[in-house]
Amino acid sequence: MRLVFLGPPGAGKGTQAERLCRDMNWAHVSTGDLLREAVAEASELGLKAVEFMKSGRLVPDDLVVSLVAERLKRDDCTEGFVLDGFPRTVVQAEMLEETLDTLDIRLDRVLYFATDREVIITRLSGRRICRDCGANYHVTNIPPKVEGVCDRCGGELYQRDDDRPETVQKRLVVYEEQTAPLIRFYEERGLLKELSGNLEVEEGQAAIRTALGVPAEREP
Ligand code: AMP
Repeated sequence: MRLVFLGPPGAGKGTQAERLCRDMNWAHVSTGDLLREAVAEASELGLKAVEFMKSGRLVPDDLVVSLVAERLKRDDCTEGFVLDGFPRTVVQAEMLEETLDTLDIRLDRVLYFATDREVIITRLSGRRICRDCGANYHVTNIPPKVEGVCDRCGGELYQRDDDRPETVQKRLVVYEEQTAPLIRFYEERGLLKELSGNLEVEEGQAAIRTALGVPAEREP
C-alpha cells in the first residue's frame, strides 16, 4: 500500500508509521528524519535546510520534493510506503502527483490524524529522539527502559530543538496555514480517511489497521 500520513506535529504520525511499516515491510519515508540526517551530516541539503528547521518554518518545496523523489526510487519502496510529514503544502502535493505519475504508481489512501491541541502540546514537550537511530520516545507515554537511552540501539535520547515551546507555537501556525489545506485537497480526490490522533499508541495502531483493512499487528 502507498499511503500518506497527514496531521499536525504531535499527531503520532511518526510513531504509528514506524510501527506499521516495520510490521508490514513497507518503507517509512519521513521527510523530517531525512532532513535531520542531512543536517547531522552537514550535507549541501542539510546546510540549506537547517535554519528553516530550527525556526519551525518549512524547508523550500523543491528541496523536499527532490529528496522524496529520490527516496521513492529505492527498492524498499516496492512493497509499499508511508509518507510521514510529506506533503506539507499544496505545491508539494501537486509535485508528488507528478512524481508518482512518472513512476507509474498511485496513492491508495491518505490518513488524516485529527488531534486536540492539549494532546499535541503534551506529546511534543515530552518527546525524546534517539540520536543514532531516530526512534521516538516520550518521557511518560512511551518511556525507554533506561532513562535517556534508546531501547533499540543504546543511543542517547535528546529533545529536538524545534520541540521547545516557542518553536512549537510557530510550527502549529505553519501547519494551519500551509498544511491543513491538504485535508480538502485529498478529500476532493476521494483519498482521505480521518482518524483520531488522540488515541494511545496501541489503540491508534489498531484503528489504522482497521481503516486500511490490514491484519492486526503480529508483534506489538
Ligand atoms: P517533522 O519531523 O516532520 O516534524 O519535521 C521537522 C521539520 O523539518 C519541519 O518543521 C520542517 O522545518 C522540516 N520539514 C519536514 N518535512 C517537511 C516538508 N514536507 N516540507 C518542508 N519542510 C519539512
